[in-house]
Parts: sequence; structure tokens; C-alpha cells
Amino acid sequence: MPIHVLPPDVAAKIAAGEVIERPVSVAKELMENAIDAGANDIRVEILQGGRRLVRVTDDGCGIASQEVELAFARHATSKLTSVEDLYHVATLGFRGEALASIAAVSRLTLSTRAADEEVGTLLRIEGGEVVGREAIGRPAGTDIQVENLFYNTPARLKFLRADTTESAHVARLAASYGLAYPERRITFQNNGRLVVRTTGTGSLYDALVAVYGLDVAEQMVEITPTDPEAAVQVSGYVSAPALQRANRQDMTFFVNRRWIQDNALAYAVTEAYHTLLPAGRHPLVVLNITLSPEEVDVNIHPTKREVRFRQGRELFAAIQKAVRTALMARHMIPAAVMPPGPTAAWERRQELASLGTSPAQGRFPMEVYRTAPDAAPPAGPGPIAALPSSGERLPMLRVLGQVAQTYIIAEGPGGVYLIDQHAAHERIRFEELTDQHAAAQVVAQELLDPLTIEMSPQQATLLEAHVDDLAHYGFDITPFGGATFMVRRTPAGLPPQHVAEALGELVDALLRGGESASWDESMRITLACHTAVRAGQTLSQEEMRDLVRQLERAHMPHTCPHGRPTIIHLSKVQLEKEFGRR
Ligand code: ADP
Ligand code: MG
Repeated sequence: MPIHVLPPDVAAKIAAGEVIERPVSVAKELMENAIDAGANDIRVEILQGGRRLVRVTDDGCGIASQEVELAFARHATSKLTSVEDLYHVATLGFRGEALASIAAVSRLTLSTRAADEEVGTLLRIEGGEVVGREAIGRPAGTDIQVENLFYNTPARLKFLRADTTESAHVARLAASYGLAYPERRITFQNNGRLVVRTTGTGSLYDALVAVYGLDVAEQMVEITPTDPEAAVQVSGYVSAPALQRANRQDMTFFVNRRWIQDNALAYAVTEAYHTLLPAGRHPLVVLNITLSPEEVDVNIHPTKREVRFRQGRELFAAIQKAVRTALMARHMIPAAVMPPGPTAAWERRQELASLGTSPAQGRFPMEVYRTAPDAAPPAGPGPIAALPSSGERLPMLRVLGQVAQTYIIAEGPGGVYLIDQHAAHERIRFEELTDQHAAAQVVAQELLDPLTIEMSPQQATLLEAHVDDLAHYGFDITPFGGATFMVRRTPAGLPPQHVAEALGELVDALLRGGESASWDESMRITLACHTAVRAGQTLSQEEMRDLVRQLERAHMPHTCPHGRPTIIHLSKVQLEKEFGRR
């Protein structure tokens, strides 16, 4: 479609806004244009955090010579014509504003040639005024150089952060598009140094390796759509629970191949990891969400960073299910933490550190509990293959003994396993309680001597309001005047001396509000904790075998409900390495 200025009624419906806030905004708009132009090779380059230069070169369709000036007019686009088009936008751009906005606040040089034209065009614009135009010879495609961003708007210049911060944003952008479009070759150079280079093979896994390194990619679990008929398709990769991040920076979402930053999506995914990650830790994910364009409103945010879903609930449910299913089927045992060697990922970390991104806020492989590639449990047929969904289960383990009255040491296929007896039993109890609660059959015990417990007034109000909910878990609690309560029955296995503490924690969970866990779940977590064997408790051989056997049968045997590991694995290979045998 030729470039044209949108009629006023369409222009008015477009969620306009000042789209250019910082160098990464320029890079984003230019990259999106290159993608819309069908480019296979997209190069992004910046100098001095992008203040001096942001340059994007592509081998896309190019701009026809007689349309070059028009491309810089406001609301000039080749991507839509009518208001209806807005409801099923298939391109990344649609407002026809970006080039105009960028050109207004910089010194811009465009060099382009349409594939079907002989001669290309070079156009120079300063602060929105065309200052030069000439015909040039060049390959088909487009090259836009944006220099001295905000030179004529000093107020905006002042808002820019340190060069390293600005360049880190561009690095994340380039990496994200590299992941969204694995079939295109995307490179990013910062001050002449190559930071991102994807190969363009079309495989998301290859893109993951290019962006995060092999170490991380190997710890990712693939999500494959299970139902080709479903309205929402979710695919991509999510990290095994052992691979964690301290923030949400590495949760990357694409909706119909548009890069979206959406807290609700991040929340849906984090929920799917519930009880698999410690509080405050986040997974690394790259998710492609595909649904009919009519189901998504892409026109709600000035920089198109957010979208609105018409069926949000169904979408989140689909995402959670997809993530959860993949994790259940494939998650790995954290290997014993080994000192990081001089691996490729390590070198990359150094490089990024010199780029100014501290590992804590990093976008790349950092701060992971290393899980050696050989640490994955045997997924194929083994002694437990007859069990349903055996891939998620533990291998058969032979108990050797107890260490420090806290850890069970066991031998299994491929090495030594250390099991945290408390964490493991917590997991077992948590699943038992969940099953019992679902069947409305929590096993309870009558107390020989009813207990009287004291709460604070605030706690008492909450406890009183939830006496019935607690009854579903086997508690018989009666208010006894003031902040005192009488307890006659508790869930089985809860030692009387723990009752007051457990109830206090349950009420505190109520006080904290819904946070992420539902209160019901906090309840089971607390009860699991208080009914599990403790660290420091001597266990007989029989008890240990029993515990390990139950853990083998658990649905999520690898972490306790708080997300701590229950089991670590020292592989034969690791042992051989540590002892210098290889
Ligand atoms: P939009 O992307 O919303 O259409 P822009 O201001 O970003 O608006 O671009 C205006 C028009 O210029 C586009 O519709 C497209 O036709 C053309 N254009 C911009 N960049 C490129 C490019 N890299 N290759 C080919 N055409 C481009
Ligand atoms: Mg655009």
C-alpha cells in the first residue's frame, strides 16, 4: 500500500502521545518499521547511549522515491486506511507518527531504495525541516541514522539517564525482538561492540542461546501448544524452577509477535510457579501468545507497550495452564551449586558488567543456581516409567543414611542425592493436605486436653471471622471471650505445642492479604510446615525410606511449598570433575 496521510477521523481515533521519550524509543520504532518492511537482516547501532547516534539498517522493502517525504508527515502510513483496520492490526506500526516524531527532535539521515526502483534516495532532516535530498545508489532496504537526539529540546535531554542505562534498554529491546523473530537476523552494537547477534535460523531455541547463552537455554523448558483448536495458543520457553531471577526483567511476552510489557501476564506466569519459587524470585520466560487480532486492542498505549485483551480471564487461565503443564512434565532437580567456571556465560556477564548493567538488574544469564546439563532426571523409560507422567517424578533412590540429623543421603541413577528432610516432608504434607481438602476429608485429631490460646485483638477479629474456614482443615475452634480461643481438634500431626504458632501464622497470612498466594494455599503451606518432620530430628532407616518413597510419588517433588529445593543432585560427572578424574 502506498504511504498516505490518514483521514482526520482515523487519526483522531489513534491513541497518540509523545512516543519518543529516550533513545530506546527511537530504536524501537525503527526496528518495528524494519520488521514491518519484511527485513531479514536488521542492524541496530548506538553511540553514547544513543544520544549521539541511533542507527537502524535493514534489507526490507525500502521506501519509494516519491514517498520519502510523505513518510515523515504526521499520520502518514502505508499500514492502515480505515477505522475498522484498527481492530485487526497485523503490523507493528499503524499510527504513522514515529518518523515524524523522531525527525522533529533530531538530525536524521534516511537512505533508502525500494526493491523495484533503480535509484535510491538520501534525505536529510534537521528538527523536522528537510535540509537535503539527493539520488544515490545503494542496495534495496533502508538505513536511518538519528543523530543528536533532543538537541533542540533540552528539557527532554535532561531526563536521559547515564549512557550505560540507556544502552541497556536498547540491548533488551534488540534481544527481545531477536526472540520474537527468530527467523530474522538481529544485531545490536553498542559503541562499536557487538552485544546481541541472533542467527536468524527460525528456531526460538537458537535465539535463546544467542541471547542468554547455552547455560541458560539448557535449563529452559519448552512449551508446546497442546490443542491446535484452542482460541489462545501459548508457546515458548520457561525456566526450570532452579533458574531464578531477582526481578521480572527476564519475563518476555509477545502477543501476536508484538513485544508487550504487561504486569498481568507476568503475574499469571508467576502464579503458575506458585510454591516452586521462593517469594520474591522470578522465572525467566519467553512466551508467544497467539490469538485472533480482534481479541486484542493494540491501540491503548502511546508506545504500544501494552495491549488490552477482550477475554483477559480466559487468556490468563490458558497461560497458567500451559506453563504449569510444561513445568510438571519436565522440571529438573537443582544440582549442587558449583563455583562458576570461566564459561561463555561468565565472560558475557563480565562484558555486560562493563556495559554497566549490574547482575542484579541484568537481562542476561546471571545469578542462577547452576544446574549442570547432566543433572536432568532420566526422562525416558526407567524403573518408574510405568507411573503416569513419570518425567516429573524422582528416580528410584536408595537411602544411605542421615547427615547432621537434617539431610538424607541417597544414591540414585547418575549420582548422589541429598534430601532436606523437612523441606521434602513439607512438600509431601502439602500435597496430602491439598488432596484431603479437595475431597473435604482432612484427617483431624481430637485433643485430649483442649487448648486455650491468646491472640492479639487484631488477630482475634480475623480468627473469629475464619473459624468456619479453619473447620474445613480439621480445626475445632470456639471463641472464648475477648481474644481467647478454645481449640478442641486440629489437623492430624500438628503437635499441640505448635497450634498457637500455626494459628498465629495463618492469621498473619490473612493480615498480609491476598498477596500472591490465596489464603487457602497459605493455610496448607503453614500446616504442612508445622506437621512435617523438623531439621535436627533423628530418623530411623525405615522412616527415611518411607519419606523418600513418598517424595518419589509427589507431583512436584523438587521444591518445598515455599519454593526451596527439597533435593539436590551431585552427578557422577560432577564428582569426577571435583576429584580430578576428568
Ligand atoms: P507507521 O509505522 O505507523 O506506519 P512510521 O512513521 O513509523 O509510521 O512510518 C511511516 C511509513 O514509512 C510506514 O508506514 C512505511 O510505509 C514507511 N517506512 C518507515 N520505515 C520503513 C522501513 N524501514 N522500510 C520501509 N518502509 C518504511
Ligand atoms: Mg512505525
